[in-house]
Amino acid sequence: MPHRKGSFMNLILTYIRRHIGMFATALFFLSLETLADLMQPTFMSYIVDNGVKGQSISKILMYGAMMLGIAALGALGAVMRNIYASRTSQQISMEMRSDIYRKVQTLSFENIDRLQPSSIITRITNDVTQIQNFINGSMRIMMKAPITCIGAIALIILQTPKQIPMMILILCISFLLIAANMGFGYPRFGRLQRKLDRLNEVSREFLSSVRVVKAFCAQEQEGEKFRSAAEDFAGAGVSAMRVAAVFSPLINLTVNAGIVVLLWLSGSQDNGQIGRLMASVNYMTQVLFSLGMVSNILNTAVRAVASAGRVQEILMEEPAQKQAPQAKSPSGEGGVSFCDVTFSYAGTPEPALEHVTFTAMPGETIGIIGPTGSGKSTLVNLVPRFYDATSGTLFVDGVDVTLLSQEKLRAEIAVVPQKALLFSGTIAENLRWGKPDATDEEIRRAAQIACADGFVQSFPDGYETNLGQGGVNLSGGQKQRLSLARALLKNPRILILDDCTSALDATTEASVLSMLRKQCSGMTVLLISQRISTVMRTDRILCLEDGRVMGFGAHRELLDSCPVYRAIYTSQIGGDRHE
Ligand code: ADP
Repeated sequence: MPHRKGSFMNLILTYIRRHIGMFATALFFLSLETLADLMQPTFMSYIVDNGVKGQSISKILMYGAMMLGIAALGALGAVMRNIYASRTSQQISMEMRSDIYRKVQTLSFENIDRLQPSSIITRITNDVTQIQNFINGSMRIMMKAPITCIGAIALIILQTPKQIPMMILILCISFLLIAANMGFGYPRFGRLQRKLDRLNEVSREFLSSVRVVKAFCAQEQEGEKFRSAAEDFAGAGVSAMRVAAVFSPLINLTVNAGIVVLLWLSGSQDNGQIGRLMASVNYMTQVLFSLGMVSNILNTAVRAVASAGRVQEILMEEPAQKQAPQAKSPSGEGGVSFCDVTFSYAGTPEPALEHVTFTAMPGETIGIIGPTGSGKSTLVNLVPRFYDATSGTLFVDGVDVTLLSQEKLRAEIAVVPQKALLFSGTIAENLRWGKPDATDEEIRRAAQIACADGFVQSFPDGYETNLGQGGVNLSGGQKQRLSLARALLKNPRILILDDCTSALDATTEASVLSMLRKQCSGMTVLLISQRISTVMRTDRILCLEDGRVMGFGAHRELLDSCPVYRAIYTSQIGGDRHE
């Protein structure tokens, strides 16, 4: 992790330090550019006061040539500074994005739930861009503005020392305005980023569920949601920009008014050295320009500070799950045992699971049934440690899972979620996620067990068929079967099926389950299903309601002893059939 303490400058400096060579080179060229800019008016005053007034062509030519040389140096400085500043800021933003991405990969589901995926996306994209703009801008402006400002003021004082009190007054008013600009701007830019999060969330939700939205003709409703989020974002933007819109012209006005007053005072006091007067006005314009730049970069800084806070929140997020110091590997047949396990999602008062106790023996298939929201998915998510139990202990192969290496534990488990997730690429590539070095024969065998081989072979390109993003060119049932084949290819000791046969017709589902039983007899299987006809075929059934175990046993036992199970059975199969 690149940094521990949470200040804005810490974050920026950590990254700048890595590219200190390029950063320093940019600053060197910036100084060259700035000095060249500062020297121009002085030479101009020499040309006017010594050359033009003295009618000396040679002096005009000499000072003119010097000015040209300095201008060329300044231009070289500007070009090189631009190249180095852009390269440094691009490099820093790229690294910051990679660091956030890597960090997110170490976080557990609990952290991700809290941070929100849409907000993580905004942070990786927009927030990093704000910081990049600030770093790039500061390499152009931050150094240039103070040097120009101080240099120009010093030169004005040298040329027209009587104007010091007036200069101080103008500068004080300008700094006060800049400070007010920051004070008002900061909370508004923070709010702007939060509104952008919301807009991203609404867009993501709509795009990932566009079919459902259309099927329910809910475009109007979703459109309204989007419009409201977009309006909020625009409103926050207007409010933040209004601050800049008020203060930037005020700062300009102050300095411009100062120039007029200085000119007037100089005109009435000076002994008629027109070149000096020209130089003073020129320097005053440079002061104005640099103050304008300062107020601009401070606006960028205000956004960058808000963004840096959000980026740091991720970079400093402590993974909710800790790896045990001497993490063990699971070694056994794949037995799973819940011992008085209670689990609550972060920020929710009601536990999703309460005092759950049961044991799945190695090689046993456990059916899990219960109404929606009864905690079935939550229960199986604890086995690969997607979340950790709030109290109680979960044992795999007789060892507390929190003492096992997360990586090795997950290597022994395959999860088939209800929503089959496939990636763009060929079918074979998708299945190889389960086992990168799987042979074609192994892939086919896994697909046969999942009853997927038949439809895959019917495609002209078979296993080399390209899938669109998320497998859009397959039916729900086909995706589920491929997702199961991918899990089987891993040859896990524990297989978790989270209602993953819901999109299959009853006959295909029965074939898949009977193939599984025949071909994968050594695996411990936790099979969630809404259908009683599915769980009836398992060795033992766990019946859940409101996160509590209502019954655990074979089908017939539960029919006799568990009223909740009997009610589900009666509602799905009928009152008097006992299979
Ligand atoms: P089931 O799989 O039986 O439908 P779940 O395990 O998905 O039930 O959910 C059990 C309870 O936990 C529900 O009340 C649900 O709202 C809640 N829940 C599920 N996932 C989360 C989450 N990520 N954050 C907060 N609450 C959740």
